Amino acid sequence: MAAISVPPVAVPRTTVSRTFTFEAAHRLTWHPGKCRNLHGHSYRLDVTVGGPLDANGVVIDFDELTTVVEREVIDRWDHRDLNQVIVNPTAELLAQRAWEMLTTAGLDLVALRLWETADSWVDLCVGAP
Ligand SMILES: [Zn+2]
Repeated sequence: MAAISVPPVAVPRTTVSRTFTFEAAHRLTWHPGKCRNLHGHSYRLDVTVGGPLDANGVVIDFDELTTVVEREVIDRWDHRDLNQVIVNPTAELLAQRAWEMLTTAGLDLVALRLWETADSWVDLCVGAP
């Protein structure tokens, strides 16, 4: 009699997300339109961290997540000229820089979304090319 194989039970991965906002200026020197002029945005940054639950039953304490994101990104970019931060501050490159800063600081990021306007955003996630 053949053994019955039982498919492994899928364990959902738990993620924790928090939204941050900052105001900043930039200009895109390569842009053919008005984005080449200095202008500002009310950026929104959504950060998602994943991982196993710790002994307290959390992926990460929301306070710790807040502390790290504010220290590493928000405090450095809020009310700044982003052209002073990176050479070509597109939303895509800013999101990549934020990802680098946050993972270097120890966060186990699984996704990051940077909103440049209320209807325009960039997504980064684990496994994206
Ligand atoms: Zn812009």
